[in-house]
Amino acid sequence: MIVLNKKYFEEILKHSLSHLPNEGCGLLAGTFEGDKKIIKKVYLLTNIDNSPEHFSMDAKEQFDAVKDMRNNDLLLLGNFHSHPSTPARPSDEDKRLAYDKSMSYLILSLEDRKKPVLKSFNIINGEVTEEEIIEGENDNGIC
Ligand SMILES: [Zn+2]
Repeated sequence: MIVLNKKYFEEILKHSLSHLPNEGCGLLAGTFEGDKKIIKKVYLLTNIDNSPEHFSMDAKEQFDAVKDMRNNDLLLLGNFHSHPSTPARPSDEDKRLAYDKSMSYLILSLEDRKKPVLKSFNIINGEVTEEEIIEGENDNGIC
């Protein structure tokens, strides 16, 4: 499961809203605590596809983010992107592009702008499993 503080959820939401009508995207970094993934930093990246149905993360920004993770002893735990007008479910393309079995793939649906829905998935050989997201209680993300 993933432990995500509300402030990170809000960063993801704000970033995704600012990318409308296009998809927004980014990376999630943190540490493991047992089998829990504790998110400690969210990297908000540019969707260079500028598309409402696809995303590609800016390569330079990804590189800088991974470098920053290394400098801060954080691991790349997953990524996120938004679905401006479809549910929070991986599309066929999302499944095809999910190359890393250990990653968490988060999708924020803005289908109902008043009720954004964030879900996390593990995708292994095209097989999708939803992963629980729990809200952290303090700034360290420890719950
Ligand atoms: Zn998608």
